[in-house]
Amino acid sequence: MNIRIGILTAPQIDFVQNEKTFLLKNVRIGIGFHWDRTEDQEFAGQLEILHNPDGTQTAVNIIDIEDYLCSVISSEMSADSPLELLKAHAVISRSWVLRLLQREKQRKNIRQTAFEDGGHIGFDVCADDHCQRYEGLQRMNARAVQAVRETAGQVLTFSTDSTHSHELCDCRFYKCCGGKTELFSTCWEDIDYPYLQSVQCPYCNTQDASILRTVLNQYDQETADFHDWEVTYTNRELHDILLKKTGIDFGDIIDLIPLKRGASGRIYSLQIKGSLCTHTIGKELAIRRALSPSCLYSSWFTIHHTPYTTHHTPLSFTLIGHGWGHGVGLCQIGAAVMATQQHTYQDILSFYYPDTHLQQY
Ligand SMILES: [Zn+2]
Ligand SMILES: [Zn+2]
Repeated sequence: MNIRIGILTAPQIDFVQNEKTFLLKNVRIGIGFHWDRTEDQEFAGQLEILHNPDGTQTAVNIIDIEDYLCSVISSEMSADSPLELLKAHAVISRSWVLRLLQREKQRKNIRQTAFEDGGHIGFDVCADDHCQRYEGLQRMNARAVQAVRETAGQVLTFSTDSTHSHELCDCRFYKCCGGKTELFSTCWEDIDYPYLQSVQCPYCNTQDASILRTVLNQYDQETADFHDWEVTYTNRELHDILLKKTGIDFGDIIDLIPLKRGASGRIYSLQIKGSLCTHTIGKELAIRRALSPSCLYSSWFTIHHTPYTTHHTPLSFTLIGHGWGHGVGLCQIGAAVMATQQHTYQDILSFYYPDTHLQQY
């Protein structure tokens, strides 16, 4: 089965077609996140150039799903990762994408509700963190290919209460939960799944450099404070960030008040009180984007500010936070640590996705 991956949209796609592969120039990855950068990437499979109504072009790669997964696993985690981690990742990446294709078939516009950013037009998935990282052949490695081949066709399913039929799981993942995983409804639509429960994760609080070097991509290793972090803004800096990211001029920032927190502690409704106006923002990703020049590591943080001055506005705000990512489903660093402690990929899957079954698709 083939999948269509949207790699890049630009005024004009710059590419070199080789005999069996093609090279795309200036592919942007980590869009809007703190690891945002541009690189050239080479891909197998077929290249199709879409001409968009706004005059831009989109490069779409058409390739077999299992080959797509080999590159996804190589892009998400380092080549030196323990095999059991890569196998767990192969199963969840496969389940996620097959479920997406299945639902796409059932209902053409599913992404307009499933993704906060609106749909992908002309392709099934994008190549960036929004869907799953798919960064071409240069990151491809033999262990990831082995993990995909050894779990060929394996997916996670759960049985529904009503019909007792088995459905594919929406296997979400992220870098580090920070100690506790989160519920689906904190981040996306107001629904929850029995297999995306909030679990205590004792694994990802590691500073073991040898483990992190083994499991994280080169550019992910630049982020060292993924479990516990802190960021401080002056009142003016916070005002400027909020104006740029939300388009709202709050005036002096008086307070940030968490109205709703998810099961892990991630905020999904935040009131921002300014001298000019007060607004409430959410859910999780909107809060992370609004409060950082790029994107906050997570929305699990407490808010501390300097004392109120005579003008009733604190001089600065400090956010003390935990985790890197939305926290729903598998914690990649936690799963990596489990794998180094001799847990199998089945153990890892049943820990982060309780009450699921491993099945052949
Ligand atoms: Zn996407
Ligand atoms: Zn964790």
